[in-house]
Amino acid sequence: MNAARPGWYAFPPHLEGLDRFEPGKPIAEVQRELGLASVVKLASNENPLGPAPKAIAAAREALAGVNRYPDPQATGLRGALSAHLGVPADHVLVGNGSVEIIDLIARAYLGPADNAIVSEHAFVRFRQIVAARNRGARLVAMREWTHDLAAMGRAVDDRTRLVFIANPNNPTGTWNRRAEVEALLAALPPGVLVVLDQAYFEYVDEGDYPDGVELVRRGAPVVVTRTFSKVYGLGGLRIGYAIAAPEVLEALYVIREAFGTNSVAQAAAAHALADVDHVRRSVRMNREERARVAGELSRRGFAVLPSIANFVTFDTREEGREVFRRMLSRGVIVRPLNPYDMRSWLRVSIGTPEENSAFLGAVDAVRPGS
Ligand code: PMP
Repeated sequence: MNAARPGWYAFPPHLEGLDRFEPGKPIAEVQRELGLASVVKLASNENPLGPAPKAIAAAREALAGVNRYPDPQATGLRGALSAHLGVPADHVLVGNGSVEIIDLIARAYLGPADNAIVSEHAFVRFRQIVAARNRGARLVAMREWTHDLAAMGRAVDDRTRLVFIANPNNPTGTWNRRAEVEALLAALPPGVLVVLDQAYFEYVDEGDYPDGVELVRRGAPVVVTRTFSKVYGLGGLRIGYAIAAPEVLEALYVIREAFGTNSVAQAAAAHALADVDHVRRSVRMNREERARVAGELSRRGFAVLPSIANFVTFDTREEGREVFRRMLSRGVIVRPLNPYDMRSWLRVSIGTPEENSAFLGAVDAVRPGS
C-alpha cells in the first residue's frame, strides 16, 4: 500500500513525531457520545461566567457590517489597548488568538539554524510551534514544577534567538518572580528575545509578579503576549495581542495575514476591556473557588501544584487518562496531561461553585475503593 503511494503523499519527515494539538473535549460531543443531558466542561481554562456582557453587545452590532473586510490595522482595538495599557498604539499588535502571535514570532525570528529555549513542562504550543517550523527547541528541566530561569539562561548558545516563558505557566499554574525574570534578562546575550506569555495576567494578584508591559516600557528585549480568551471570555472569537517595541513587531507585521482578525472579534475585544465589573467578578470568583478546589483536593490526599491562574493541576497517582475517562462518564470534562509528559496528573479549570462541586463529587465517585 505504502509503496504504491506517490511521493507527494508522504508526511513531511521534519514533522515526524509531532502530534495534533488535543483540545479540551467539547460539551456537545460528550453529550452525544455518552447520552448525558448535563455536562460540566472544566478542560480549557475558559471563563465560566461567559463573555463580558459589553463585548456581546458590541459583537452583535458589528455583525451588521460583516459584508466589509475587517480593518487590517485593528485601529479601534489597538487604540483601546493603548489607552488601557499605557503604551503607544505602535507597541501593540493584534492576532487571531495569542497562539497565532506566538507562531508569528517563531516564523519571523527563528532562522534555519536558530534554536529556542523552552522549559520541560511549558505550554505545549511553544514546542509544537518551534518543531513545526523545523527549528530546534532546547528543552530545559523545571525546578519544583516551575520554569528554572537560571538554567534556561545557561542553555542559551550562540544560535539561540528566542526564550519562551509562560508566566504563569499552563499546565502547572506556577510562576516566576520579578527578580528571577530580571536576572534572566540581564544575563542574556544581545541577540536574544524573550517571549513572555501572560495569557492569565488578569487573574494574578501576587505582589512580586513581573508586569511585562513595564519591561517593554523600559526597553527590555521582551515581547509580551496576552489574550481575550481567558478572563474576558472570548475564546470562541480568537483574539489576542502582543506588546513590544515597534521594531520588534515590524517583522510580525510584514509576515502576518493582513485580515487575520475579524471585525466582530475586534469590536467585542475593544468593549470587553471596558467591562471592569465582569473582570472583577470573574477574578474574585476564581480566587475563592481556586482556594476551595485546591484545598478540597489536598484534603483528599492529592498533591496539588500552587496555581495563580484559573486552573489547578493535581497528581491522581494513577494513569491520568483513565481517571479522566471515568470522570467523563459522569459528565465532568477535565484535562489529562499526557502531551506534557505528566501522565498521572490532571488539570481542572476553575468553574462556577456548582461546577466545581460537580467536579469534586466526580473525584469522590471515581476514586479507587469508592
Ligand atoms: N498561552 C497560554 C499559556 C495558554 O494557556 C493559552 C490557552 N490555553 C494560550 C496562550 C492561548 O490563548 P489564545 O486563545 O489567545 O490563543
